[in-house]
Amino acid sequence: MSNERIERLAEIQARIAAACERVGRPASDVRLMLVTKTVAMERIEETIQAGHVLFGENRVQEALPKYEGRQADLDVHMIGHLQTNKVRQALRFARVIESVDRVSLVEELEKRLADTLGAGERFPVYMQVNTSGEASKFGVTPEGAVELAERIVASEQLELCGLMTIALLTSDAERARPCFVMLRELRDELQARGMSGVRELSMGMTSDFETAIEEGATIVRIGTAVFGERPTRDEEYWPRGRRS
Ligand SMILES: *Cc1c(COP(=O)(O)O)cnc(C)c1O
Repeated sequence: MSNERIERLAEIQARIAAACERVGRPASDVRLMLVTKTVAMERIEETIQAGHVLFGENRVQEALPKYEGRQADLDVHMIGHLQTNKVRQALRFARVIESVDRVSLVEELEKRLADTLGAGERFPVYMQVNTSGEASKFGVTPEGAVELAERIVASEQLELCGLMTIALLTSDAERARPCFVMLRELRDELQARGMSGVRELSMGMTSDFETAIEEGATIVRIGTAVFGERPTRDEEYWPRGRRS
């Protein structure tokens, strides 16, 4: 891997550790996910050679050629909006689907998994919650979250392991903080309702991951800080999304 990228990765790890320290959490509480949308496989392979295994991708058609058949070695999470007609393909590269946000998607996952899972086996998913209130973003509304979580937990094919959110997109991380607080409080509420398996909080990106860690993130999803600016605008991944 280029020295520059090794340095960036080390710097991010150090910032994660420092943020953990500030709030009295062990650094091992937080996993760094490298978000590789638009990043060429060659550059991704460099990070794999350096020992990295946790990756995130937004689009099935982009992720499949990169990661298909590597589920034994790599922990790739689907973090983008998932159309029901892409579920079958998503299951060919993802070990976790973080963007479960509606009943129709739950039903499609159940249908596709019914024949492939072994007895008693469940496929791990997170529920994506729209904590920013921006109509542009995907995710179940906070009001609908408990009901959807109960539906997922009742599934024979799915295991609800955590929650995911994209916070308010802003250059001021403090404005994103209430989104992180909301996700953590929702997780705690689900646990209090007996859903004890809901542990992970996937939240925080390049511009706000330290704030997310202060509020309890267990996975931070980082692209730009490691791979540099993307050639495409994020609006292509989050339709109608806008930075404020
Ligand atoms: C692109 C993306 C990220 C990473 O964003 P950066 O600002 O580049 O770190 C994280 N989460 C999701 C869902 C993304 O689409």
